[in-house]
Amino acid sequence: MTEATSLQVDLLIVGAGPVGLFGAYYAGVRTLSTAVLDSLEEPGGQITAMYPEKAIFDVAGFPAIKGRDLVDELLKQAAPHNPHYLLGHQAVELERGEGAFAVTTAAGLRIDCRAIVITGGIGTFTPRPLPAGGDYLGRGLAHFVPDPARYVGEDVVVVGGGDSALDWALMLEPLAKSITIVHRRAEFRAHPHSVELLKASSVNILTDAQISGVRGDPDVTEVDIDVLGTVHTITCSRLVAALGFTANLGPLMEWGIEIKKRQIVVDSMGRTTVPGIYAAGDIVDYEGKVKLIATGFGEVATAVNNAAAYLNPKVSAFPGHLSDYVPAEGGTPTAASK
Ligand SMILES: Cc1cc2nc3c(=O)[nH]c(=O)nc-3n(C[C@H](O)[C@H](O)[C@H](O)COP(=O)(O)OP(=O)(O)OC[C@H]3O[C@@H](n4cnc5c(N)ncnc54)[C@H](O)[C@@H]3O)c2cc1C
Repeated sequence: MTEATSLQVDLLIVGAGPVGLFGAYYAGVRTLSTAVLDSLEEPGGQITAMYPEKAIFDVAGFPAIKGRDLVDELLKQAAPHNPHYLLGHQAVELERGEGAFAVTTAAGLRIDCRAIVITGGIGTFTPRPLPAGGDYLGRGLAHFVPDPARYVGEDVVVVGGGDSALDWALMLEPLAKSITIVHRRAEFRAHPHSVELLKASSVNILTDAQISGVRGDPDVTEVDIDVLGTVHTITCSRLVAALGFTANLGPLMEWGIEIKKRQIVVDSMGRTTVPGIYAAGDIVDYEGKVKLIATGFGEVATAVNNAAAYLNPKVSAFPGHLSDYVPAEGGTPTAASK
């Protein structure tokens, strides 16, 4: 998260899901200074929030790639162009000026830009809070597991019964000192194969159970678990609340852009009804729209390249064939002169 209170860029990408991240790569190729904003603390959108450990089989060029690895590769692909990532910031307000926009976030950060690409997917995700979690978020309590290394040798409790909870429990099992999964129902909601793996693992499984107390100062050291009315206290240094997310398109729907059935209407250039604002990915609608990562990548390439031509009418939307260029050392080809 940035400490600055304002930032000026050519292009603002709203949403650091897979589509926004690929947009950051193309914006860099077009030598646009770029900021990528996301309300989540981690990049990767739905992939990071819901299925980081799942294999994805339908991204061109990858017969199978784990969600987390796809996000890492997208970050690597954009990295030579140094986009500014503004994570933990929800875009709330839009001001329109003469050939310029200002977007203000919920935390008061202002981004001045000349064009916007909205890749907001299904909206801002808010993790469902752990009722007994108090103010332990960041002090042992987390909703994501971005860095498994922080769980090595720890006593971990994962709360939840869906895919994320099981994926994280299974991923951390070989790293943690101990691992317990706590689910309030008798049956897990996760993929049956994950449930089988969990049952065959060394993870301590507590069903019909919920966390009724969290203690430790300043960080979590133990939790109370209520199993059918009997409370057990166990040592816990890392508590992962994987209780799902709510998604809200909220503020983006109020920006004066044409919306149909809660989707942003775009044309074949990725343009919305507001000149200078483009959109791509799960948030857009047009006839025949298919909501997939593969289609979102194509849409954002179209949107960003058309935004480049909008920002500089002397350049074409077509960036050239990047394979014709010899990349700078350690970098990727740049086609701004085209
Ligand atoms: C369980 C599951 C499995 C899936 N499997 C596949 C698969 O195998 N193959 C496939 O192609 N697709 C799959 N999908 C769909 C795929 O994940 C989506 O198509 C893809 O994530 C869309 O990417 P996106 O970048 O458009 O949106 P998202 O991934 O939704 O990212 C949008 C980002 O925008 C942010 N955002 C929204 N509003 C704001 C705001 N106002 N301010 C700041 N940030 C904001 C959100 O926080 C989010 O991070 C799956 C989806 C799910 C849920």
